[in-house]
Amino acid sequence: MADKVNNKIIVFDTTLRDGEQTPGVNITVPEKLEIARLLDVLGVDIIEAGFPASSRAVADAVSAIADSVSAGVCAMARCMESDVYTAWEAIKFAKAPSINIVMASSDIHLEHKLKMTRGEALRYTAECVRYAASLCPVEFTCEDSSRSDRGFMLELINSALNAGAKTINITDTVGYAVPSEFGELIRFVKSNTSREAVISAHCHNDLGLAVANTLSAVMSGAGQIETTLCGLGERAGNCPLEEVVMAIETRKQYFPFSHGIDTTKLYRTCARVSAITAIPIAVNKAVIGANAFAHTSGIHQHGVIENPLTYEVMAPQSIGKTGSDIILGKLSGRHAFAERAEHLGFELSEDELKLTFEHFRELAEVRKSVTDADLIAIINQIRVVPDVYTLDTFTIQSGNKIRASASITVIRGGVPYVGEGSGVGSVDAVYNAITNIVGKDWSLSSYLINAVTGGVDALGEVTVRVKHAGELHIGRGLSLDVIEASVLAFLNAINRSLAAGVPPDRR
Ligand code: MN
Repeated sequence: MADKVNNKIIVFDTTLRDGEQTPGVNITVPEKLEIARLLDVLGVDIIEAGFPASSRAVADAVSAIADSVSAGVCAMARCMESDVYTAWEAIKFAKAPSINIVMASSDIHLEHKLKMTRGEALRYTAECVRYAASLCPVEFTCEDSSRSDRGFMLELINSALNAGAKTINITDTVGYAVPSEFGELIRFVKSNTSREAVISAHCHNDLGLAVANTLSAVMSGAGQIETTLCGLGERAGNCPLEEVVMAIETRKQYFPFSHGIDTTKLYRTCARVSAITAIPIAVNKAVIGANAFAHTSGIHQHGVIENPLTYEVMAPQSIGKTGSDIILGKLSGRHAFAERAEHLGFELSEDELKLTFEHFRELAEVRKSVTDADLIAIINQIRVVPDVYTLDTFTIQSGNKIRASASITVIRGGVPYVGEGSGVGSVDAVYNAITNIVGKDWSLSSYLINAVTGGVDALGEVTVRVKHAGELHIGRGLSLDVIEASVLAFLNAINRSLAAGVPPDRR
């Protein structure tokens, strides 16, 4: 049994499947690919890449991922032959493909969601797992395990194991369990199954207990943990990879397990995922929040200066966060810039380096210093989606006694398009000018502005969600001028919706 031999915890990440179901998140295929590559270099063992039967677009994204990473690639399937076939078609070229077959084990899910008897559930499980196991290794998930009748769940698990499943995933789908109870459930399953299997733990965070429940599962013999980056996922999300791994890492004596994660890549990986999904990281979030290593009280500051161990249980460097801040100025050359980016963990291509360096020089021209936070914001602007519309120029007339009006020129395919608009304020006016060019069927649904660093010369980072054809699309813009950042964010959302093509089916 792999998890016993070397005491290694298998990290199964579902950012691209469960995490992609975060409300308001809609990421494009190239962005999914980028996240998959980030997970791969982070050292995740298995990437759950999606649910191919949900739509053609998801199936295509899953097979693109299967082709381009060396980690294991898993596809989710409901307990039906057609789902398993579609999943297999999407992952068959992966280096280590696997299929995650999901069947509800609780009566509440069987009765109200699947409208299925226990007997039918047992029969479909045996048939479907047997078919999938003839293709590749199978993980069998008991959905809603923590609210299931144990006797029936065990029957279901044993029928999956007898049909060839290698991993059994015990879930707290609704985030209801408490740590001692969930650990006990894992022990119960482990000691009563008919065959050897890796036991996996899949916990949700509805009561803020996902990490605690996952750790309890590990202590009770689970050999695999299911996580998402930044804790993305349905409702309050899944168990955050960065938190559970840093708990294991920081309390090694308590958790005598190894894992394959390169923790020094955690900070920048999470920052990039947050930028792609436009789900901000709370400042007080454990491990990766902006305040996670900030000390305000004089006594604490003094202590940390004398010795960081006084108030820090882990070093910021262990997650790839550097101590220094003021770094580059307008005299810094391309080499210094590239070195700093590399130090922060970014591997930029020649083109990306050229683009981001230009952006950096523009900023350095007007600002005395450029901080790591600025640099990360600039690099996070790298577009993985080609721009259809680009900004040429805009002007705005605004004041407290007049209605704002705006004029904008955007370029599409080398051709300039001019739009005029008015509104209740500068942003409203310029957005109306844009929709007068691109069409009225793009409407703003949310707008968020964030200053990257303090001060009136801070970079403004604007994130918008724009509705088009019933789908929400995220857009981001960065500029020293907040109106320009707003324009760039809106255009970015439009470009992304044009690149997204067929909207994926939501589940
Ligand atoms: Mn889930």
